Amino acid sequence: MNVQIPCGCGQTVTVDSSQAGLTVQCPCGREVEVPAWQRPPGGEDRERAGSGASRLTELGWAFVILAVVAVLVTGVAAGSLYEFLGLQGTREARKFRAIMSGGALLLVCAAGAALRVVFGARFYRE
Ligand SMILES: [Zn+2]
Repeated sequence: MNVQIPCGCGQTVTVDSSQAGLTVQCPCGREVEVPAWQRPPGGEDRERAGSGASRLTELGWAFVILAVVAVLVTGVAAGSLYEFLGLQGTREARKFRAIMSGGALLLVCAAGAALRVVFGARFYRE
């Protein structure tokens, strides 16, 4: 499979896809690098072809949702607690509510990091 590589001089250099990652010489004398992604679909590159940017796996999405839910639930719970204690609306209450929500988010992130390190869980498609 032939691949056209543009050179800085304006010409295109035709190379074979098997030359991916190598440097070829343009007729003008300049060295042109053949990008590694020019390899044809198949083999180890098959998964990458057409997938574009990294995407979250199902586990990744589960953790994103878990993080949002944890923050919301903690925020609501803290609000109810302060309402019960008669502290609702005070500056201290707002501050502690923010700290508790942040703490919940940190816990979810820490759990995700632990899963990643201990079990090799993947949150992104690479
Ligand atoms: Zn050239």
